[in-house]
Amino acid sequence: MSRQIVSVVGGKEAAAVDTYESTNPARTGEVVARVGLADADTFAAACRTAKDAQREWAKVPAPVRGRVIASIGRLVEANAERLARLVTEEIGKPYAESLGEVREIVDTCDFFLGEGRRLYGQTVPSEMPDKNLFTFRNPIGVAAVITAGNFPVAVPSWYLVPALLCGNAVVWKPAEYAAASAHAMFQLFVAAGLPDGVLNIVFADGAETFGGLELALGEGSVQKVGFTGSSEVGRKIGELTGRHLQSACLELGGKNPMVIMPDAELDLAVEGALFSGFGTAGQRCTSLGTVIVHESVHDEFVERFARAVRESRIGDPAQDVLAGPLLDQKFADRYEEYLTWIEPHHKVVSGNIGKITEDSPHGDFDGGQGLFYHPVVVDGVKATDRLFLEETFGPIVGVTTFRTLDEAIELANLPGYGLSSSIYTTDPKHAFHFREGISAGMVSVNNSTSGAEAHLPFGGNGKSGNGSRQSGMWVLDQFTRWQAMNWDHSGRLQKAQMDVAE
Ligand code: NAP
Repeated sequence: MSRQIVSVVGGKEAAAVDTYESTNPARTGEVVARVGLADADTFAAACRTAKDAQREWAKVPAPVRGRVIASIGRLVEANAERLARLVTEEIGKPYAESLGEVREIVDTCDFFLGEGRRLYGQTVPSEMPDKNLFTFRNPIGVAAVITAGNFPVAVPSWYLVPALLCGNAVVWKPAEYAAASAHAMFQLFVAAGLPDGVLNIVFADGAETFGGLELALGEGSVQKVGFTGSSEVGRKIGELTGRHLQSACLELGGKNPMVIMPDAELDLAVEGALFSGFGTAGQRCTSLGTVIVHESVHDEFVERFARAVRESRIGDPAQDVLAGPLLDQKFADRYEEYLTWIEPHHKVVSGNIGKITEDSPHGDFDGGQGLFYHPVVVDGVKATDRLFLEETFGPIVGVTTFRTLDEAIELANLPGYGLSSSIYTTDPKHAFHFREGISAGMVSVNNSTSGAEAHLPFGGNGKSGNGSRQSGMWVLDQFTRWQAMNWDHSGRLQKAQMDVAE
């Protein structure tokens, strides 16, 4: 029997106005959860509830909040396999990756439980005698967090854990097609000891969420929006929050380049390109978009890469496979559209394209009843092609060539995203030259474009985001506001800039 889940606001189940069925993309006939969807008013009400709860939560000393974060980490760890199996069942992510994703929540908790005992402010020297200056980090208030479903638990934890640790309350709106995974994680978080209303979960479609957010911002019950999703929706969220003089934390799409120098270890580069391009069926924000390979090693690289792709294992995500299905039917539909961007001057070097079926198998895999698609490598991509310029969320990678490293950097920056990037080289000079020139927020050397650690800043520039960063100490600037205090104990009025100490 599938789960029935609804929004939870202030510790109580909230009314639903519609129902969504979250299905298993590896066997689309299987319903994983029936999800009650809320409307805009419920979203706004959740923000009001969070606002009330936040006042008391902010009074809890930060080290004590850190202990709640520690309990969340231990509870998630104790339930890691179950949660990972649910992620695999609901979005088709290979089990090893799902388990890694759950591990990332634990790592994030491990980092931030200690931050509860730091959350440092500073003492700052004054221009004047007998005067002390201080800085404090204050919680922001209520964070509304809206997330995509391709990382249904790890990426939300990058918002929830630091936001809660810093003394904020949260209203979280996950993607519907990953609702059961989100709900399971929510239950673990509240079971760790969060007071009612400090963390709320609202299932709603995009339009109702936007309407609810607009209401809540108008009422003054949201002070920070965290949004992870497409650049298109991110732009709308940025406009809306901008009207309320807020700067959202925007973590958006990517068109991530991989540059392969003539001095690269080609086998390593092929392995990196395979994992970057086709792990999670190419549905990561950090998935490889285009390989930019030096013309002298192009033929050799393409031949090896295409072979590796043809021989890769695609299938049941509960097994040891490189990739499972696409996340949900809407992503399959969108991906089929991306395939129409393949033009006559392109050469598909990986074999079949489209859905994996009995008539079009991948190796001995016939696709069963799932949303499985052939991994596609398109050679001969030009800098003016749509395939080169736009994110293609799914298993498709373009290949183009370059002559000089500067030309490669220019190509890598051209699409205007700026999330992740990678260079394969054995020459440190090339690695550092690339680092300086690339506009991406994250740079890999001799490594995949994807992968993150809980204590390193994660985020992008350009169409990939507005410069916000998640993870590590950097995300604290999203969920706290600096307050400056000066304390004059001279016993007279000292005026900054006017009374200058001799
Ligand atoms: P999306 O359409 O932008 O949706 C993301 C979330 O926003 C979902 O919960 C969605 O709800 C909600 N939403 C949709 N329209 C909305 C609106 N008008 N107002 C408020 N919320 C709205 O993104 P997607 O296509 O599902 O996800 C894939 C994208 O996310 C890719 O571009 C990927 O690169 C990006 N991503 C980025 C990161 C990162 O850290 N940079 C991480 C993961 C994914 P519904 O489910 O109802 O549509």
